[in-house]
Amino acid sequence: MAQLLAAAARARARVNHGRWIADCPRPYCANAVKLDPRQPVFHCAGEGGCQMIAEVEWPGDADGIWQALLERPVPTTRNWYPPGHDEAVRLGIPHGQSVADLRAEHREHDDQLAV
Ligand SMILES: [Zn+2]
Repeated sequence: MAQLLAAAARARARVNHGRWIADCPRPYCANAVKLDPRQPVFHCAGEGGCQMIAEVEWPGDADGIWQALLERPVPTTRNWYPPGHDEAVRLGIPHGQSVADLRAEHREHDDQLAV
């Protein structure tokens, strides 16, 4: 059972304001931790951290997502959620976007500037 829980509790990498982070997968722990690209293990460290250790789930095209987001001049607009991420679903904002989706969104915003 403990092993089953450990396997299920994976920290999902996402981009928040131009940084890779992951939310702690432990229920009721609202901590989020900054990640280095491709960091394999999540540690809910620091003040307020529950010290949980979990595997990090990275998107297959993390580098492409990152490159697409770097094309955005404003760091706070560099955001990406994995598919079905709780917070994105709750807030009604895009999740599981492909690199093409991100570029399309970027172009849409540029078009608004041009109007
Ligand atoms: Zn935690």
